[in-house]
Amino acid sequence: MNTGLQLYNTLTRKKELFEPLNAPHVGMYVCGPTVYSDVHLGNCRTFISFDLIFRYLKYSGYKVRYVRNITDAGHLEGDRDEGDDKFAKRAKLEQLEPMEIVQKYTLGFHDVLRMFNTLPPSIEPTATGHIIEQIEMIKEIMNNGYAYESNGTIYFDVEKYSQTYNYTILTNRNLEDMLANTRELGGQNEKRGRLDFALWIKAKPETLMRWASPWGEGFPGWHIECSAMSAKYLGAEFDIHGGGMDLAATHHTNEIAQSEACSHKQPAKYWMHTNMLTVNGTRMSKSAGNGFLPEQLFTGDHELLDKGFSPMTVKFFMLQAHYRSTLDFSNEALDASEKGFKRLMNALSLLDKLTPSESSDFDITPIVDNCVKAMNDDFNSPVVIAELFEASRIINTVYDGKGKISAAELDKLKQLMQDFVYDIFGLKDEETSNIALNSVLDMVIDLRQTAKENKDYATSDKIRLGLQSMGIQLKDSKEGTTWNKA
Ligand code: AMP
Ligand code: ZN
Repeated sequence: MNTGLQLYNTLTRKKELFEPLNAPHVGMYVCGPTVYSDVHLGNCRTFISFDLIFRYLKYSGYKVRYVRNITDAGHLEGDRDEGDDKFAKRAKLEQLEPMEIVQKYTLGFHDVLRMFNTLPPSIEPTATGHIIEQIEMIKEIMNNGYAYESNGTIYFDVEKYSQTYNYTILTNRNLEDMLANTRELGGQNEKRGRLDFALWIKAKPETLMRWASPWGEGFPGWHIECSAMSAKYLGAEFDIHGGGMDLAATHHTNEIAQSEACSHKQPAKYWMHTNMLTVNGTRMSKSAGNGFLPEQLFTGDHELLDKGFSPMTVKFFMLQAHYRSTLDFSNEALDASEKGFKRLMNALSLLDKLTPSESSDFDITPIVDNCVKAMNDDFNSPVVIAELFEASRIINTVYDGKGKISAAELDKLKQLMQDFVYDIFGLKDEETSNIALNSVLDMVIDLRQTAKENKDYATSDKIRLGLQSMGIQLKDSKEGTTWNKA
């Protein structure tokens, strides 16, 4: 097992040696998407970054339980426990049931992450599937004296909590400044303190998504789901909790408060935050209107785009930046990544064609060591990419007959590429994937032709309908059968 991994912990504001609570087991919780609309490319950056971390932990020999939730309830438009429910609003707009909205955008989210070749999490729990656990947790927080009821809504008592715990531990802000910068409570307000936040919100007559609770019908607040689900699947104390940097100040701060008020334990040993994808320096977000969809990026169908870029080019572009640096989107940067990714894939396609020699002009071990060292230094993927380009240069040199490589060094080179390009970065050669799909389809069409000639129409129909359900349409003509994506 790799025991030299250092990672940056937001909680302590420094890089620390990764020492899991219960090695080789590692528990990792990452805040997932709010599925009331399509995910944009910024969201994808965060999930691709945690996929890299998940993959590297596995490569390092850990047995990782990766929990990434789906937020499918309890998100209000104003981030201060006010405003319309985002799911209900969207449901009205699209004339669908709120759970149809949830299903539609959950499926869309999975499709997008599959295109980026990310691994599915070990558990993907939903907020609506864990209402009972959330209610139980709220009861416990109330029993411990850290929450109060006000007209059917339950609020977390930040002042009470702050007497024992440090509410701003994650961001190191000054509580007095925060109070000064938070607006006054209005006359109608049911909260006692300005920083108090809702754990459970009383349903209004028009609220669509509502559940029974000891305090009447309502729905969970914005933060309680993650505290309840992380505790359920990873325990009151686990190793890593992650999400985008924008979540630290409110969502994660409140999560820590809830978990501590319930179990008196800091839930995660390491808090990790990914930096934002920006467009011309502005954070990509749904509200800023600069959040384009991955699909628009692939097709080029967006005013900011000169052309389309493939999923692997976009992923490579993201991996060329460290996860804690901002990454600014531009056509020029993507163009450069496209060229770089092609260069890497071209070199990889030559790897099997190299003939080993008796002696070697190249020593691969330092490259492997540098890659491990870079990943052990808080997952420094851009440094790994520079090393992979060095490996590509060696492949090209040997292929061009300008250098020799021994069988042993060639094996190391192949292992390096397998480990870092495919297993850790989760990249794939889109050209060969297409070639593979084409040859499989040619074979299937051939089998269907044989079935038809044998008058085995049951089989030929099964093939046609099966392909149709995968979105592949067959077209028969005198010249033969062709296919296209429906
Ligand atoms: P949401 O669906 O808005 O809850 O966001 C899902 C995840 O995407 C969260 O971890 C956010 O922090 C993250 N996120 C949102 N916008 C960006 C962005 N522009 N760049 C990177 N991550 C983002
Ligand atoms: Zn969360």
